[in-house]
Amino acid sequence: MSVMSSRGQAVDGKLRSWVTSANDPQGDFPIQNLPYGIRDGSVAVRIGETYVCLHEIVRAQAFEGELAAFAWAQSLTSGSLNAFACLPATVLSEIRRQLVAIFAEGSAARSKIEPLLRMVRENEGSEVLPFRVGDYSDFYASLHHATNVGSMFRPTIPLLPNWKHVPIGYHGRASSIVPSGTSVVRPYGQTVASDEGPPAFGPSKLMDYELEVGFFVGAGNALGQPIPVDQAWKHIFGFVLVNDWSARDIQKWEYQPLGPFLAKNFATSVSLWVVTREALEPFCVAGPPRAPEDPQPLGYLADPHGCNVDVTLEVWIASAKMRADGTPPTLISRGSMSDMFWTPAQMLAHHASNGCNMQVGDLLASGTVSGTTKESRGCLLERTWRGTEPLMLGDGTERRFLQDGDEVIMRGYCEKAGYPRVGFGECRGIVRPAHTGAAS
Ligand code: CA
Repeated sequence: MSVMSSRGQAVDGKLRSWVTSANDPQGDFPIQNLPYGIRDGSVAVRIGETYVCLHEIVRAQAFEGELAAFAWAQSLTSGSLNAFACLPATVLSEIRRQLVAIFAEGSAARSKIEPLLRMVRENEGSEVLPFRVGDYSDFYASLHHATNVGSMFRPTIPLLPNWKHVPIGYHGRASSIVPSGTSVVRPYGQTVASDEGPPAFGPSKLMDYELEVGFFVGAGNALGQPIPVDQAWKHIFGFVLVNDWSARDIQKWEYQPLGPFLAKNFATSVSLWVVTREALEPFCVAGPPRAPEDPQPLGYLADPHGCNVDVTLEVWIASAKMRADGTPPTLISRGSMSDMFWTPAQMLAHHASNGCNMQVGDLLASGTVSGTTKESRGCLLERTWRGTEPLMLGDGTERRFLQDGDEVIMRGYCEKAGYPRVGFGECRGIVRPAHTGAAS
């Protein structure tokens, strides 16, 4: 089956909902989106500024046909999306189809469902991760990010010879993945004043964010059984925003020869609502064309119908003073995931190409999303060019890297003519001071 035929039926762009807040043209959550998250320990679907727990929809007997009889409801109350995401793709598509019918203007189910709607309240400290994440891998799929960072660390060979052949990635750490709204403590680590050392141990002075898009694996593969690239899209359950917090001074000293380690694994933030691949399919575009001198991908990575999702991605920063004064956050960058050199399907197929078994809830992130312009660079290392071109925040202070009290706010949304905006909401985190009293 080709990727094209494995795509679902797009929801009509003109459809409106009886949930008024879903029809806000500036909102992220129209009836065409319907992302899933965890609320009150249960699988919930978001529409507009409200959500409903699916097991309550089951109890209200609003699902029909095969869903009314099928024993899928036990997957709804285990505290994560893992069991739900393992349901057969046909069942997940039918659930989505019936949810669209339930929330559509004029639906007969309105009287059953309206009393079950609850307001979404975020940043109250009670947020939970949508998935129980077993494994986390982070790629490096933006040509512009790889070239920019490479030119700082290795001016003579900014892009290593393997980069356009292999989707480069590393194994991250799952235990420190946190939901949006969780504060992040400035890490300690080894850093050096000059390239040769000697090192000192102390709080990172060059703390940074990385703007990324991540996706959760739904159906996995058996150990030893690769996922063909033309099947990979349908193994993806859905997408979130990812902030891969990074300590650049720790990274610089530790990254050779085995790559990132403690500079990255102290925290990774993800947004709360998982936007399904079906909701994003109307925004699939081809990746940027390869230059004539670029190599063609090897056969196992050839993805002629692959989807690069055209997500607009923004980073905003608010200092502690700005929040106290009511000053709005300052826009730092705006880029698009469509600039990525490798598609999500290529990343997933490559990861499984040696027989590595992907499991439900595994998180794969894209790597920093940077475009061709300064304004589209997705981390401060690039945006301030290693601190040499500081940015001005709304409170009049300069930023080269993050300071204690800074809140990083990432936003992502898809837009096109004739279709409502489909978005991810926000991925937020405040930098807290390093713990005091650590040994040096
Ligand atoms: Ca990263």
